[in-house]
Amino acid sequence: MATKAKPTDEFRDHISTVDEQGKRIWVYPRKPKGKLYNYRKYVSYLLLALLFAGPFIKINGLPLLMLNVVERKFVIFGVLFWPQDFFILVLAFLALVVFIILFTVVYGRIFCGWVCPQTIFLEMVFRRIEYAIEGDFTKQKALNKMPWNTEKILKKGAKTAIFLLISFVISNLFLAYVIGVDELQKVITEGPINHMVGFGTLLAFTGVFYWVFASFREQVCTIVCPYGRLQGVMQDKKTLVVAYDYGRGEPRGKLRKGQERTEGDCIDCNQCVQVCPTGIDIRNGAQQLECINCTACIDACNDIMRMIDKPEGLIRYESEEAIETGKKWTFFTNRVMGYTTILVILMTALTTLLLTRDEAEATILRTPGQLYQKTEQGHIKNLYNISVINKTNHDMPLTLKLLDKNGAIDIVGSKLVLPAQGIAEGVFFAEIAKEDLTGMNSEIEIGVYHGDELITTTETKFLGPAN
Ligand code: SF4
Ligand code: SF4
Repeated sequence: MATKAKPTDEFRDHISTVDEQGKRIWVYPRKPKGKLYNYRKYVSYLLLALLFAGPFIKINGLPLLMLNVVERKFVIFGVLFWPQDFFILVLAFLALVVFIILFTVVYGRIFCGWVCPQTIFLEMVFRRIEYAIEGDFTKQKALNKMPWNTEKILKKGAKTAIFLLISFVISNLFLAYVIGVDELQKVITEGPINHMVGFGTLLAFTGVFYWVFASFREQVCTIVCPYGRLQGVMQDKKTLVVAYDYGRGEPRGKLRKGQERTEGDCIDCNQCVQVCPTGIDIRNGAQQLECINCTACIDACNDIMRMIDKPEGLIRYESEEAIETGKKWTFFTNRVMGYTTILVILMTALTTLLLTRDEAEATILRTPGQLYQKTEQGHIKNLYNISVINKTNHDMPLTLKLLDKNGAIDIVGSKLVLPAQGIAEGVFFAEIAKEDLTGMNSEIEIGVYHGDELITTTETKFLGPAN
């Protein structure tokens, strides 16, 4: 029976892609194959389709998602948010952070392996093109070592051209999520001369994406990504991770024909290491910083287990605790329940805020430097400036009414029309009978109407004479 010897933690002192001199070790992962890899392909096709369709899908004339940081306009699921909705966005952000923590505590880095755009583009798009042009890892190594000849020039040239083209497409997509697909269309159809900034941004991001996917690669996950760096804080021994069952696998030893096997199930074939896109050995221990839970090593090892007639799952989704104790991984822990409760409260508050959010937001201030006026009937008039923000995608002619006082509102000049996603500004008089006022500085409430529909209310001060 194999001893349950746990490997040492020495490998945690350095990252796998940097050598002792601090130089980058280029990772040549073997082309993955297997059941989980196929599932990941299907998931990535679906996510890529959604990602590319996203800017074109419109709800009430607004895109599904647009994060226009330049104009500070944000559209999430067809709902337009302005900087005035900051508190909703903060709450949404908090809910997202709690969701990420809860999800990571329970399921580890499933997001990294299956959903993250970096992994999907690198492993499912760029890497597959590389395999198609340059061949599997051994051929790639040989190609890189060979002197420049026709074969190398053609292969490297074709790869670079395709990578650049895809980076340009991703750059367009990225910009569509920032400025919206309609603006992007203008940049494309009206030509670079008329949109130097837009076109320059497109080219700059093409360069960045090309560099990330052609050169920087797995270092995004191991060095840059804050989510990756925070895994150590969020995960514990109960977290579901890609783990090697050292109890079953150790002591490892090569398979020798005709000899009775006394070692564990790991035949030290190195397939799990060769296939790893971040260049690590999962047998060193679970929860390694570099492991993006891509499951390529699970597929590779399952292949070997089938070949040597052993049960699959020497490397599998499992918690560290389950590997250590042999107990089954469980979802129901106090910490998970606590996070879930907080998440439900946050989501409820967020949904309530979204559902009760006004379609417009008005700011009404007394016109500076103006006192009140008296009319012939003895009524008091105040002059106001109004600014209304439209949070919908349709124009709204507006009317104003006093809600808590008898009186009238008279808009100065043309009618107040609120343009779609825009701002309307105007000036109006509010007129109230003197006896309805409570003093020199009365509080009044004004309703902003679109037809018969009250779309928002706001309070302001009304100046009058002392009683
Ligand atoms: S150790 Fe396995 S799951 Fe982790 S990154 Fe490498 S191949 Fe993917
Ligand atoms: S693929 Fe499986 S058997 Fe081969 S070295 Fe890795 S863990 Fe051991």
